[in-house]
Amino acid sequence: MKLEKLTDDICIYPFEPDRDRPTLSLIRGFHRCLAVDAGHSREHVGEFYHDLKESGLPLPDITVLTHWHWDHSFALHAISGVSVAERRTRRKLREAMEDAEFIPRLLSTDEYVAREYENRKITISLPDIVFDESLDIDLGGLHAHCFHVPSSHTNDCTCILIPERGVLYLGDCISGAYPDWIIDPLPFEKLIETLEMIDFTVAVGSHWPPFSQEELLAYLRSNL
Ligand SMILES: [Zn+2]
Repeated sequence: MKLEKLTDDICIYPFEPDRDRPTLSLIRGFHRCLAVDAGHSREHVGEFYHDLKESGLPLPDITVLTHWHWDHSFALHAISGVSVAERRTRRKLREAMEDAEFIPRLLSTDEYVAREYENRKITISLPDIVFDESLDIDLGGLHAHCFHVPSSHTNDCTCILIPERGVLYLGDCISGAYPDWIIDPLPFEKLIETLEMIDFTVAVGSHWPPFSQEELLAYLRSNL
């Protein structure tokens, strides 16, 4: 059992560095449940769902993508419920789908994807629902405020704030660009300004342990 409780109604399935699997999460409202990110593969999301069932928790009704990258989106075809993403995320996934060389190139250059999939087939799917810039979802007692943020990681980064619990999901927005992780100062500074204006107590990034707001801002300023 890997599932960890963040609050009474939010749990996280922590990141796994060996296969570069990102943190997945479930936010449980009175009326519906929302997952953050689909995961790297059918196996990845299947293990998350197994832990949810073992804990007596429901599977998600809605899954929101933080950005298009494979480790966050390639399990879209295997999720429970509907998927939601910002329009730029859908566009990037469509471009990847239509590029016959994309998957062979990724498998030959990214050891983590090769390790996740071994010889299994990769399936790219598109999100069911698309929004522009921001979207608010009422879960019943809890809300998910999904919004685009500037980032030097990709130009399609979405953060998700659960204001009632002070929890902010970052995805990979605090990283530099794949594959060299080089930070572009302009979007990075804009991101820091954006995060400084948000009221949160815990920030959950996809490949890091949770940060407090102070820890997160100190970490980001040290990277400038
Ligand atoms: Zn990423």
